Amino acid sequence: MHEWALSDSIAAAAKDVAKKENLKKVDAITVVLGELQDIAGNIFAEIFEDVKKNYAGVANAKLIIESEAAKFRCLNCGNIFGLNRKGLPHETNEAMHFLPETAKLYIKCEKCGSTDFKIIQGRGVFIKEIKGDK
Ligand SMILES: [Zn+2]
Repeated sequence: MHEWALSDSIAAAAKDVAKKENLKKVDAITVVLGELQDIAGNIFAEIFEDVKKNYAGVANAKLIIESEAAKFRCLNCGNIFGLNRKGLPHETNEAMHFLPETAKLYIKCEKCGSTDFKIIQGRGVFIKEIKGDK
């Protein structure tokens, strides 16, 4: 289950940061979830509430989830465009979640029609900010 593994690694990372920065406790963790990532924010948040109790200094941390929209850059004309889900069948959306590279099969540049593009945003999960008390 992605959400469980993610919760655990986020809590562990927050604990490490707290230790490094001499924080007594972590108050808030901001996590950014990419649109092309197969993570359900609400499930992640729910699991995190349980998982954080296992980590010293993180037990009272508030989880803030931000989502990052997918963005692509056309390698032919340089146009930067987002993910237009309208008209995409449900299975296609699913496929992109599990394997962002498959986006290439379904998406083309809105400007020149090229299918040669790079995913420049929206495929990662990362910790944006950790706040705590010294
Ligand atoms: Zn283009």
